[in-house]
Amino acid sequence: MTVLVVGGGGREHALVWSLAQSPRRPRLLCAPGNPGTAVWAENVAVGVDDLDGLVALALARAADLVVVGPEGPLVGGLADRLAEAGVAVVGPSAAAARLEGSKAFAKDAMARWNVPTAASGTFGPGAADEARAYVDGHALPVVLKADGLAAGKGVVVAETREAARGALAALLEGGAFGAAGSTVVVEEFLEGEEASVFVLTDGDDYVVLPAAQDHKRIGEGDTGPNTGGMGAYAPAPVVTPDVLDEVERRIVRPVLDGMRAEGCAYRGVLYVGLMMTADGPSVIEFNCRFGDPEAQVVLPLLASDPLDLFEAAAQGRLGGVEVETTGGAAACVVLASDGYPGAYGVGRVIDGAERPHDEALVFQAGTARDVAGNLVTAGGRVLGVTGRGGTLGDALDAAYAAADALGFEGKTLRRDIGQKGLARLAG
Ligand code: ATP
Repeated sequence: MTVLVVGGGGREHALVWSLAQSPRRPRLLCAPGNPGTAVWAENVAVGVDDLDGLVALALARAADLVVVGPEGPLVGGLADRLAEAGVAVVGPSAAAARLEGSKAFAKDAMARWNVPTAASGTFGPGAADEARAYVDGHALPVVLKADGLAAGKGVVVAETREAARGALAALLEGGAFGAAGSTVVVEEFLEGEEASVFVLTDGDDYVVLPAAQDHKRIGEGDTGPNTGGMGAYAPAPVVTPDVLDEVERRIVRPVLDGMRAEGCAYRGVLYVGLMMTADGPSVIEFNCRFGDPEAQVVLPLLASDPLDLFEAAAQGRLGGVEVETTGGAAACVVLASDGYPGAYGVGRVIDGAERPHDEALVFQAGTARDVAGNLVTAGGRVLGVTGRGGTLGDALDAAYAAADALGFEGKTLRRDIGQKGLARLAG
């Protein structure tokens, strides 16, 4: 059994690690991978945007299954290309990946299927006057979103009228996000706590994985600019069994049924980004893949063989499958380079990442080998340290103990990962 994992960040390190735990002992390939994935998989230097190269690699190495980490290749049609070539894939078709790739598509679809989400208006490039009038008449704060993929940088929460007008102008006219910004979604601001629910689906049936909470801002107390994610924990206590039931009933099932009915059945991982509002869970966004760093806490909590689950999802056999979890909790603390999410230095030697740590897993993201073979920093988010334990508190202790035992010049981390979860558990 050969499995190809596409991607080269912390999420893909977690995917490769998780598949390597399978008792079926699959042969693992990772494209392009990173020094962390190389421990478990053969890294192959094919980039995530090289769709021809990825299909050729899957065929040349007779991959039985391809698991796609990032959204870019999925929105670009990698799953369609692999399916045409007869290769089983975990990840939606380009048509289905529009749930992430086009916020306008997602908002329209949710309106058709009565899925709870913020009220919004969508404005194309020719509708600048209507967009301005809508924004001017909107209560503050107001949220403005570029339609297409913008690497997490296409959303502005405007607190003042002036900021809202400026953001709209940048999105519609200034081309701040290139093609991603030519259509803009203007949306009501939702109050509440955010959480993410992950569903693995074969288009008909689905299983729900542990819910997680991410920490997007660089600063403690959720301050400062947004990042790719500074930490996560799972299960998120804010997603109670009742909330999860409502999410399945009002969001997951209508979306999967709607997509299938409209001829683009959704297969793969559906990431449901939620705001827990006073009126119940409301969709902030869909992603067509695992989150990063959420994968680094969700996958370590699986007791079921992830290979069995992924294969069943790719082959339409998820009906009747139950997911077993390990119990307890997992927490991931991201170690970033100082300066991130702005400019940061690279090439700093990392000490301790490749040593075993009690109860903790060290997932590599922005790392590389220098000519001398040292592990060095090569990105903004460098490592994700995941602790596991019987309780969220134990998991956090394990994560921080390992995070403190690792070093590189300029190591930056948030000390408050999981605090909202702990506060909720304390009642
Ligand atoms: P991601 O990197 O998560 O994929 P994205 O560019 O797809 O980001 P969203 O997830 O839609 O953007 O929004 C980014 C963040 O902005 C959210 O995590 C949330 O904190 C905030 N946000 C988005 N929409 C709303 C809203 N309607 N009300 C309040 N906050 C919002």
